[in-house]
Amino acid sequence: MSDDTPTETEPADEAFISLAHGAGGGAMRSLLDELVVPRFAENGDGAQSAENGDGADLSSDTSSPVGLPQLDDGAVHPVGDGAIVFTTDSHVVKPRFFPGGDIGRLAVAGTVNDLAVMGATEPTALSCSLILEEGTSQADIEQVLTSMAETAAEAGTSISTGDTKVMGNGEVDGIVINTAGVAFIERDQAVPDAGLEPGDAVIVSGTMGDHGIALLSAREGFDFTGDLASDVAPVNGIVTAAMAAGTVTAMKDPTRGGLANALNEMAEKGEVGIELDEASIPIAAPTASAGEVLGIDPLAVANEGKVVLTVEQADAEPVLQAIRDAGADDAAIVGAVTADHTGRVVVDTGFGRRYLTEPEGEALPRIC
Ligand code: MG
Repeated sequence: MSDDTPTETEPADEAFISLAHGAGGGAMRSLLDELVVPRFAENGDGAQSAENGDGADLSSDTSSPVGLPQLDDGAVHPVGDGAIVFTTDSHVVKPRFFPGGDIGRLAVAGTVNDLAVMGATEPTALSCSLILEEGTSQADIEQVLTSMAETAAEAGTSISTGDTKVMGNGEVDGIVINTAGVAFIERDQAVPDAGLEPGDAVIVSGTMGDHGIALLSAREGFDFTGDLASDVAPVNGIVTAAMAAGTVTAMKDPTRGGLANALNEMAEKGEVGIELDEASIPIAAPTASAGEVLGIDPLAVANEGKVVLTVEQADAEPVLQAIRDAGADDAAIVGAVTADHTGRVVVDTGFGRRYLTEPEGEALPRIC
């Protein structure tokens, strides 16, 4: 022990990271709001970078850029007449191979989907940064990389840059993958989370909760009927169809925290309420029954191949039909945006009404 250890000045309330900080809910937002955004916002915010750059005044531009403070699925940086959408995601899913997919497919779909729900459906390219643990099976890594290449091709993009690091045995668990992605869009094509308005219809592109329930079941060694599978897939084709068929006012990929988290975020950012009809929300039978056994609500766990959209009411049916035609067979109109109960999501259960709240704590660490 060192004599000059300043024990009397150690902070009594020193804080440490908990798993809840990674759950995508309130704890994570506090972490971002208190630690991350205040430090990066000045240089990282698209709105600021224009002022710090060539002095162009974009404050009068009708399409305001989306930067770090908005905490959307990606940032929107005006460039020339258009804009670049930029996003990044790290993937730590356990197990690395699961029913319906693997960490490689997840890493590509996750970033393609974050771009897509910003309105950027044609990703220019992705990066792939690998952090590997000494002793990891090379056959596993080959399989994961093949899966990444196949999923990128499926999404109409490629992986054009990357990095590889190896850490010692026990210093990292197996395979961690970071992917970033960029896409060009028309300036007015960006779809920020906050764009929804009272009267809009709420549409989900398919069954809810399949990824989270399949993952947890696989991890717990439950087999049930063998019908459980992750939905992990790129959604940019479905989003393209939706945007061509009507006015999409807001979109999210309901990943961590599921539909509950995505809709609460949209309601809060848009300063509106959302009302859902529970009976119209599609949930696959195996997911529903496994969810009951596990005590997990399929509306509060991750999807990795779905999108939740709000669209102008008159466009609801055309958009629904268009995304069904694009492969979203189980898509449904599940509710509407309201001017009531701002920032909250209300579910009509058929027997009464309840708030659909964001999951707190961390039921499912390493889900994506
Ligand atoms: Mg997202």
